[in-house]
Amino acid sequence: MVLQDVLEFAPSNRGKGITLIYKGYTYAHFHSKTRWYCSKKAKGCKARLHTTDEGELVAVVESYHNHPPPRLFRDSDGRVHRL
Ligand SMILES: [Zn+2]
Repeated sequence: MVLQDVLEFAPSNRGKGITLIYKGYTYAHFHSKTRWYCSKKAKGCKARLHTTDEGELVAVVESYHNHPPPRLFRDSDGRVHRL
């Protein structure tokens, strides 16, 4: 599946957890590691994705973001920070 190529997982810079990067936007998982919500969910963004347990993209449930993509910086440990 071609879409899988653009999914990227990185350690979160806030405690434990994983950040999912898709098309320049960051997502966090809630309750289940197969359901991902935009990191700006708290700001009202409704974008979300579903993946399999193995991290393969199943569906883009909502692709519209109400904000521009974050500027991301990856440090030498592979952690992703938002600038
Ligand atoms: Zn968003």
